[in-house]
Amino acid sequence: MDMATAYKIIDHAYDVVVVGAGGAGLRATLGMGMAGLKTACVTKVFPTRSHTVAAQGGIGAALGNMGPDDWRWHMFDTVKGSDWLGDQDAIEYMCRSAIPAVVELEHFGVPFSRTEEGKIYQRPFGGHTTEYGDGPMAKRACAAADRTGHAILHTLYQQCLKHKAEFFVEYFALDLIMDEDGVCRGIMAWNLDDGTIHRFRAHMVVLATGGYGRAYFSCTSAHTCTGDGNAMVLRAGLPLQDMEFVQFHPTGIYSAGCLITEGARGEGGYLTNSAGERFMERYAPHAKDLASRDVVSRAMTIEVREGRGVGKENDHILLHLEHLDPSVLHERLPGISETAKVFAGVEVTKEPIPVLPTVHYNMGGIPTNYHAEVLRPTKGNLDAVCPGLMAIGEAACVSVHGANRLGTNSLIDLVVFGRAAAHRAAELIRPGTPHKPLSANAGEEALGRLDHIRNARGGSPTSRIRLKMQRTMQNNCAVFRSGEVLEEGCRLIDEVNSQLGDLSVSDRSMIWNSDLVEALELDNLVSQSLATLYSGAARTESRGAHAREDYPDRDDQNWMKHSLAWVDGKGRVTLDYRDVHMYTLSNEVSVFPPKKRVY
Ligand SMILES: Cc1cc2nc3c(=O)[nH]c(=O)nc-3n(C[C@H](O)[C@H](O)[C@H](O)COP(=O)(O)OP(=O)(O)OC[C@H]3O[C@@H](n4cnc5c(N)ncnc54)[C@H](O)[C@@H]3O)c2cc1C
Repeated sequence: MDMATAYKIIDHAYDVVVVGAGGAGLRATLGMGMAGLKTACVTKVFPTRSHTVAAQGGIGAALGNMGPDDWRWHMFDTVKGSDWLGDQDAIEYMCRSAIPAVVELEHFGVPFSRTEEGKIYQRPFGGHTTEYGDGPMAKRACAAADRTGHAILHTLYQQCLKHKAEFFVEYFALDLIMDEDGVCRGIMAWNLDDGTIHRFRAHMVVLATGGYGRAYFSCTSAHTCTGDGNAMVLRAGLPLQDMEFVQFHPTGIYSAGCLITEGARGEGGYLTNSAGERFMERYAPHAKDLASRDVVSRAMTIEVREGRGVGKENDHILLHLEHLDPSVLHERLPGISETAKVFAGVEVTKEPIPVLPTVHYNMGGIPTNYHAEVLRPTKGNLDAVCPGLMAIGEAACVSVHGANRLGTNSLIDLVVFGRAAAHRAAELIRPGTPHKPLSANAGEEALGRLDHIRNARGGSPTSRIRLKMQRTMQNNCAVFRSGEVLEEGCRLIDEVNSQLGDLSVSDRSMIWNSDLVEALELDNLVSQSLATLYSGAARTESRGAHAREDYPDRDDQNWMKHSLAWVDGKGRVTLDYRDVHMYTLSNEVSVFPPKKRVY
């Protein structure tokens, strides 16, 4: 069938198209607009419903408002947190730029909590220290109570409106348009509201589509976090990087999975086991409950495994806040007090919250340099860029988080690299540059995929295949892993991938067809699950969030390198590797060489 006649296509031309309106997408959209670039922001949910709105604890920047701090200490903590898989040039860029980026947010109007003197309030967070790990915990997390993401996202959206950004809301981006030279020329999108198909041309496409937490059964992220941009990149023949590194947050509410921010421990909360013991003192004598997330999640998992879990099934841990001053809870943690009441039936001023490690963040994603340009690694040059394509936010892997992200470092990543993308685009594109003609069939493949899934008449509904994928990821790619379990995971996820051939979609309409949206998202999630499991099975060491029981030690000799995973149309995974950047951008700081990671 000729897709162009089967589907009516509406054409648009912009200097830049940003896909995604979370913190990263909005910061980029705003910067592009300020640079005079005609920009469209395409988003499947209303901007202020993006997952960034749910971020609670804070945004990291060494402002030093509440004690001594230095961006170099922030850089050291981030390198150590990454378990030496982060690129040190990019980490330097982020930690240094964090300070002006937060001041800029303040000037945009973000309603931060305040100190007595009226400065931005900052709280301690896991893994953030002073004096290169030798001093006390740093107060570095700039917070608006425990609704920091909400405050930032709404402010950025208002700023975008002020700068007359153009939004295409409830448009589902289907695929990138790549030309024969491998240059990205735009995107194809489906308007969920009226069923029309849109072809956006752009000199630069910026993917800001967020993480893929929904590959798992239990996660803290929104149902819309399906990593659509990551999957588009795979379909364009480009690799994803470091996909085996999936962060489990220590304190998801038991069974519901909703997040209780690490800021709760930053304000003085602590964890106990069935003996009432503050067990983190054994695992991390210095940082205790404020050790890095991977460390705390593993400690909790060991406590439960060794029979010291709480509850009828001895299968979870308790988080105590009841000893805190009620005014602290009221002023600094009002959101989680409400969440605990609704989802755990717990009054935090009186009793502890039942918690369990829950999937929270994807360190892996689309490889970029610190200008946000997407990498198209070739045999000769693993750092070559893909013209016309950028990625930012949780979708990207810059890599500033390496094998494990520190709390507060995602929100700062969003604004720092959203801003960097706009600066780079302003250097590369003259506003209003005419577009070269597209080939006549540009976008056909994307429509072919849409049409194929829309008319899927197999025997397996989306929900059944999705459940099998989510259970596989939850069981076979968890806090602790082994070769055997990961290999079984690869087999199971291959089965899930074949089952996609038997997909059934029952609603064939084009208007608000959520059945079709979920099927497209499932297809996207499966390719990312394949990349995650195969990258994990290949990495025979333990580093950050990738904890192998059969290879308990970090192996810098063989594995201090980024994984690259390509997934072809049949679901076959090819792996390769890139060196970690062990150099800095300036001589104001020197490289932090690898050492043992203790907290
Ligand atoms: C509960 C929770 C609390 C957190 N708290 C903190 C914190 O305190 N500090 C911190 O640093 N980090 C925190 N994080 C992590 C951080 O919030 C996220 O990593 C970050 O917000 C991701 O932002 P983003 O802009 O990359 O993507 P998102 O905010 O997830 O936005 C993705 C955007 O992409 C769009 N999109 C996706 N697919 C498509 C498509 N196919 N077509 C069109 N549009 C599409 C969506 O509509 C959306 O606008 C938290 C995360 C969670 C889940």
